[in-house]
Amino acid sequence: MDNIELLESYNSYLQEQKANGKKIIAYLTHDNVPIELFEAAGFVPLPLIFAGKDELMDASHSYLPPSTCSYAQSCIGYFSSTPRTHEFLDLADYILLSNHCVSNICVSEILSNNFNRKRLDFYVSYTRNSNALKYYKLELKHLQKEIEGITKERIPDHRIKEEIIRHNNFKTIVEQVSKLNIPGSEKLDIYQKAILYGPAIQAEIEEIISSYKSNTKNTNSTHPKNVIFTGCSIFINDYLMDLIEDAGGNIVLFDTWIGRNYYSQTFSEEVIASLNDPIDLLTKRFENNVYGDHCVPDSLDNKIVFLENYVNEYHKKYGDKIGVINHIIKFCDHFSLFQSYFKEKLQERGVQVLNLERDYSRSIKGQLSTRIEAFMEMI
Ligand code: SF4
Repeated sequence: MDNIELLESYNSYLQEQKANGKKIIAYLTHDNVPIELFEAAGFVPLPLIFAGKDELMDASHSYLPPSTCSYAQSCIGYFSSTPRTHEFLDLADYILLSNHCVSNICVSEILSNNFNRKRLDFYVSYTRNSNALKYYKLELKHLQKEIEGITKERIPDHRIKEEIIRHNNFKTIVEQVSKLNIPGSEKLDIYQKAILYGPAIQAEIEEIISSYKSNTKNTNSTHPKNVIFTGCSIFINDYLMDLIEDAGGNIVLFDTWIGRNYYSQTFSEEVIASLNDPIDLLTKRFENNVYGDHCVPDSLDNKIVFLENYVNEYHKKYGDKIGVINHIIKFCDHFSLFQSYFKEKLQERGVQVLNLERDYSRSIKGQLSTRIEAFMEMI
């Protein structure tokens, strides 16, 4: 669904930031990007969370083969499509290159080399031992130095810590959305907006939450086809959410980067108080992120256990046995590879899973609808 109003207001927001002399850093939306560092230095983080149309994919083929994931193709398409649909992305001064996956590296390199975006590098270890933590910390310091080289000013530790606390508080507020008794599509709209703007719209999100809290209609019980959505995120302008709700489905939990992965990565007050160095706090978050799909050892098993527990708890509370839609963007290295194992393990535990692998082509909409409808019948 086109969210023209959101894109227009985001365009105005970025224009305003630029007019105030701020620099903008675009990044592919995956785990472990320390956006607090950017904000502490006065930069505006721009998450690339717009994808879901074939035009954007098609416009990337002079740069990437069609066997690259559809999200990566779309990220190039933002910049290369004509007519341009996301012109506000021209406002980005920098692109963050991170090695979350091969596609992430390729897209950042292509944008930097062909679309004249300066590149900042941030590499993340594929393991979680003590050396991986040391490496992550070194990379944070390296990134900090790169940013300071641009602004010619040191980022004071207290500024980084203030940003960590500001984002931490904001995520705690966003987490409350997951508990609201509203349709999944409305939750998704709020998450997408929250990730786009960050704490700058905390007051607005708080207002939305309090208006919804007075809503007494029980969405969960009026939609018998409640499901958990996991795997790859749903980005702004993707039609998938409509297909799920048209088939009678209601997403009660977004177990994706736009959703639980974002709002659950918070610190307790004790942890914030116990670590003076803000770089240690960011490293702690990396260490605690046991569900991330960045080849974290056992992350898939951790996810399976989490989902099984969630399904069982939900059953106890509402009496419904909910299913799981595992969304796999075609050619996504991380989620494609493990889809059979994921489904098998959850089904052994009595949880119904639909592995929904797709690209953003409109031509497969009918096929996707049929598969989703059949799954809804089954649960
Ligand atoms: S391959 Fe997967 S993890 Fe990598 S950019 Fe594409 S969707 Fe993201």
